[in-house]
Amino acid sequence: MHSLSSSRLKRNLRKRVILFGLSVLLPALVLLVFIVRMNRQDIELRKKRSTEARQQKAEEIGRHLADRLEKTEKILLQELALDPASIRTAYRTYPELIFVGRIVKEELLMPWEESKAQKMPSDRDLSGELILQAQQAEFAENDLKLAMNLLNRSLSPATSSSQKCFIQLQLGRVLSKLGDEEATLRLYGDILGQSGDLTDEYGIPFSLFAADRLSVLSSETESILDRLEALMEENRWLPSKALFLIQDITSQVHDRSQDSFLLERLKNLRQSIENALEDLESLESLKGFVSSWMLRRLSLGRARNSLTWESHRDIPWIVGIRDLIEDQSQILLAFHGPHVLSAVIEEAGLAETFPGSSRITVSPNGEGIPPGGMFVGFRFQFDVTEVSAWSKSSLPFPLLYWLILIIVIGFTAFGGYLLWRDISRELAIAEMRSDFAASVSHELKTPLTSIRMFAEALTMGVQKRPEAQKEYLRTIISESERLSRLLNNVLDFSKIEQGTRTYSFVTTSLEEVIQAAEEAMAFPMNQKGFNLQVEVETGIPPILADRDALEQAVLNLLHNAMKYSGESREIILRLRRNGNMVSIDVIDHGIGILEENKDRIFGRFFRVSGTENQKVPGTGLGLTIVSHIAKSHGGKIEVFSHPGEGSTFSIILPMEAK
Ligand code: ADP
Repeated sequence: MHSLSSSRLKRNLRKRVILFGLSVLLPALVLLVFIVRMNRQDIELRKKRSTEARQQKAEEIGRHLADRLEKTEKILLQELALDPASIRTAYRTYPELIFVGRIVKEELLMPWEESKAQKMPSDRDLSGELILQAQQAEFAENDLKLAMNLLNRSLSPATSSSQKCFIQLQLGRVLSKLGDEEATLRLYGDILGQSGDLTDEYGIPFSLFAADRLSVLSSETESILDRLEALMEENRWLPSKALFLIQDITSQVHDRSQDSFLLERLKNLRQSIENALEDLESLESLKGFVSSWMLRRLSLGRARNSLTWESHRDIPWIVGIRDLIEDQSQILLAFHGPHVLSAVIEEAGLAETFPGSSRITVSPNGEGIPPGGMFVGFRFQFDVTEVSAWSKSSLPFPLLYWLILIIVIGFTAFGGYLLWRDISRELAIAEMRSDFAASVSHELKTPLTSIRMFAEALTMGVQKRPEAQKEYLRTIISESERLSRLLNNVLDFSKIEQGTRTYSFVTTSLEEVIQAAEEAMAFPMNQKGFNLQVEVETGIPPILADRDALEQAVLNLLHNAMKYSGESREIILRLRRNGNMVSIDVIDHGIGILEENKDRIFGRFFRVSGTENQKVPGTGLGLTIVSHIAKSHGGKIEVFSHPGEGSTFSIILPMEAK
C-alpha cells in the first residue's frame, strides 16, 4: 500500500514537472533563444553599419585628400613649367609639402644636385679666365696685390650672383693674407648677408663659408648665429656637408663663449642640425623608393600617367611621381602625411562629422581602413572604436529586448505558478478521493464482519446465556448504526457536493439532541471503556433546526473524540449558552491538532498525516459535514487544540436560528 502510493506520488510529480516544463520553460526557452539571436543579429548589424560608416568616412577623407594633393600638384607643375629652377625652393610655399625633386634617368636628384645645372665660372668665359690668373698670381707667384686686382676685375663680367659670391670669397682670402683686416671683415660680412640659395656646385651656401671664416677672424658671434639660424630655418634641404660645416662653426663659437643665452641658442641649433640629418636620411631613402616605383611601373606596364599616391616610411610621406610632358624626366612630390591629413580635415570641416580623430598609419597588419582610390600603402585609423558611436541605429537599444524578455518570462512564470498550484490541488484531491474509496471500503468491511460474526454465532447457538446473547445483539445494532452513520456521511457528502443537501428546520430542543447523542454513544463508549461526561446548561430555549442533522454532527464529533483520544478515556459533551449564541462543545484529552492543520481538517477528504492518525480508520468526511451543517444553521464550527493535550470542537449556533 505504501509503495503503491509512493510510486503514484512520483508519477504525479513527473506529470507536474512535464506540464510545468511545457507551459513555462519551453516558451521561455524559445523566447530566450529568439531574443539572443535577435540581439546578436542586431549587434552584427550595428557592427556592419559602423564599418560601413567608417569606410565611407575614410573614402570621403580620401577624396578630399586627393583633391588637395592634386590641386597643389597642378599649381606646382605650372610654376615649374615657367621656372624650372624654382624646384629647389618650391616646397617652401606649402607647409605640408616636404620635398619636390626631379627624376632624371630614373634617378632622383637631390636638391643640391640641381645646382650642378647652374653655371659655375669656368675658364671658358672672361671672368673665369681672370680668376685663373688671380689664383696663379696668389699661389704660384705669391703676388697678392696682382691677385687682388685680377679678382676685382673679374667681378664685373661675372654673370650670376653665385659667380660673384664665389669671386668675393677668393678676394676675401687674398685680403686677409694682405692683412687688410677691416676690408676682409667687411667683405665676409657682405657674403654672410647673401641668400642661402646662392651655393657652390655642392649645394653649400656661400654665406656658410663666410660664416666659417668670420667665426675664426672676428669675435662678433651674434650676426654669425643669426645667419646660421636663418639658414637652418629657410633651407630645409642642405646637403650633409653643409650641415657638418654648420656644426663645426657652432663648436668654434661654443668654445669661445660663456654667455648662457648664447649657449642655449647653440644647443637649439645643434638639435635642428640633428633633425635635419635625420630628414636627410629619409630623403636619401626616397632614391630607393623611386627605383622600385620605376621597376613596378615597367613590370605592370601601367599607363605612364596613371596617378597613385604611395606611403613612404613610418611617419608616412605621401609620395607621388609625375611625368613632365616637355622632357623625359619626372617630378617627385612628397607630402607630410599627418600634416596634410589634418589640413584636409580642418579645411573641409570633416572633424565634426566623425567621432574622435583620425590618423594615417602604414601598419601592415591591416589595422585601419584603406582610403581606396589612388592611395597605396596607408590606412586611416579612427580613434573611437565603439560601435554605437558610428552606428546611429534606428533599432531599439538591446536593453529593450531583455526587458521584454524579463516581462514575458515573468508573466509566463506567474501563469505557470498558477497552473502548478491548480494542478497540485487537483492532484491532491484526486489522491484523497482514491484514498477515500480505499478507506470507505475498509470502514464498511469492519462493522460488516463483526455483524456477520455475531449473527452467525447467535444462529449457531454458540452462546446460551441470555446476557451474552443480548450483548451480541447490542453489538450488531451498534455496528449497524456505525454502518448507517458511515453511509449517511457518504450520502450527505455527495449531496453537499452536488448542492442538493436540504435540511428541514423544526423547533428543536438542543437538550434532546444532546440526550439522543448520549444514548446512541452509550454502548460503543462503554464497550471501549470511555467515560462520557455530559454537562447541560438549563433554560436554553429550543431553536429552529434540523434535529437529525444536528444529532449527526454531534455524533461525528463524539466518534472523532473517541478515535483521537489516544490513552485518555475522558470525554465531555457540553451544551452552554454564550450571549445570544449556544455552543455544543465536544472536549477530549487526546492527541490534539497542530496549528497548521486546524483549518484544513474541515476540508473534504482531508486527514492529518502521521503515524498516530494513520492508525485510526477514517474517511476525512466527518468534519466536512459537521462544518456544512453548522453553517446551514447560520452558525459555525470552531476548534481549540494543543497537540498532546486534546481538542475542543464547538458547534456555535445563533439562538434565533431558523
Ligand atoms: P476522519 O474520518 O479521518 O476522522 P474527519 O473529517 O472527521 O475525518 O477528521 C479529519 C481529521 O481531523 C482526522 O483525520 C483527524 O486527524 C483530525 N481530527 C478530527 N477530530 C480530531 C480530534 N478530536 N482530535 C484530534 N484530531 C482530530
